Amino acid sequence: MTQINYASVAAAAQTINGVALRTPVLTSRQANEQTGAQVHFKCENFQRVGAFKFRGAYNALSRFTDQHKRAGAVAFSSGNHAQAVALAAQLLGMPSVIVMPADSVPGKLAATRAYGAEVILYDRFNEDREAIARRAVAERGATLVPPFDHADVIAGQGTVAKELFEETGALDYLFVCVGGGGLIAGCALAAAELSPACKIIGVEPQAGNDAQLSLRSGAIVRIPVPQTIADGAQTSAVGQLTFQIMQRLVADIVTVTDDQLRAQMRFFAERMKIVVEPTGCLAAAAVMNRIIDLRGKRVGVVVSGGNVDLAQLGS
Ligand SMILES: *Cc1c(COP(=O)(O)O)cnc(C)c1O
Repeated sequence: MTQINYASVAAAAQTINGVALRTPVLTSRQANEQTGAQVHFKCENFQRVGAFKFRGAYNALSRFTDQHKRAGAVAFSSGNHAQAVALAAQLLGMPSVIVMPADSVPGKLAATRAYGAEVILYDRFNEDREAIARRAVAERGATLVPPFDHADVIAGQGTVAKELFEETGALDYLFVCVGGGGLIAGCALAAAELSPACKIIGVEPQAGNDAQLSLRSGAIVRIPVPQTIADGAQTSAVGQLTFQIMQRLVADIVTVTDDQLRAQMRFFAERMKIVVEPTGCLAAAAVMNRIIDLRGKRVGVVVSGGNVDLAQLGS
């Protein structure tokens, strides 16, 4: 079993120091009034590439051997992980190959190329992106960087919670969105050291509650790709490594609806003047809809990212 613990998160914090941004922690009087709690929002929508994924990607690529650095990194993703790997590779002077769907939003393709990545397009309906990525790995001797189920990625994501606790002190609850579980696993490792009594609550879209089913049944449950506006949480199963950590350190997983996510995007825009993507709203929506009674509690909320196109935000 891969050794991963708080020391891995602390080491990641040193690695990303001065490269990743130390994002702000915001509060809102309205959020406090509505919940009866003291709510602290850790705003990774302000992170480089617009999401926490830069932390894990940069930490993972930094730990490549020199030989692996020369051959470069490979990732398959249409989302934030792709751009995070591309930018981390550029900053570390490594080549990168990103396998993306041919029908990706043109802006995302352009952004990924602008970070210096070689983009390989594939047909989402007829081609297997993992096979294409494996070929790129085999041909170049490059290293595949998975989006969540990797010790260095998890450790990097854990620096989100480390920074939050350093700023707020101990908390009663920490709410974190769950896709494949890299973010929540890393944050839970940080909490176990820095705020051991803090209950870690995962939040998923109602349409895709595979992590909730997995945690409650004690084995990884796989579901069809869920239909939800929370595209960063459209995973069909959590990872092996992330699940082991979640089983040990996550208290429960709750769900919110797409309508609650839309209302939360509006709250962030109107009240807090910040742009948050649907997946980034998951944790906040669970808190604001009082799925758990938080009166009198000190509560942390991870706002995971802000990459949403303006037309979608407007609608
Ligand atoms: C990837 C991502 C998630 C999910 O993270 P996991 O580590 O897969 O659980 C949540 N929000 C945003 C914005 C993301 O990019």
